[in-house]
Amino acid sequence: MPTYAFACRACGNAFDQRHSMAEIPDQVECPECSEPAPRAISNPRLGVGNTTAMKLQDATRATADAPQVVTQLPGRPRKPTPVSRNPLHQKLPRP
Ligand SMILES: [Zn+2]
Repeated sequence: MPTYAFACRACGNAFDQRHSMAEIPDQVECPECSEPAPRAISNPRLGVGNTTAMKLQDATRATADAPQVVTQLPGRPRKPTPVSRNPLHQKLPRP
């Protein structure tokens, strides 16, 4: 259920309530002064939450703005290329 913002004109109280999208009231009772409080227009809260998917998106977005500086490639260090000491290998054609 989405969260809707309401603002009481009598006491100035601003509060949020959750209602189903099929039954959005135009006004609700203010929890502080019991006067009718109309629904207020608020910005969509698209970034509110703490899910793993949102953390991944934030981390991915952050790499575009502030990439991490590394001094070496990640993973194990590369092994040196083995060199043959066999004299017969010296006679093989070179690429
Ligand atoms: Zn009120």
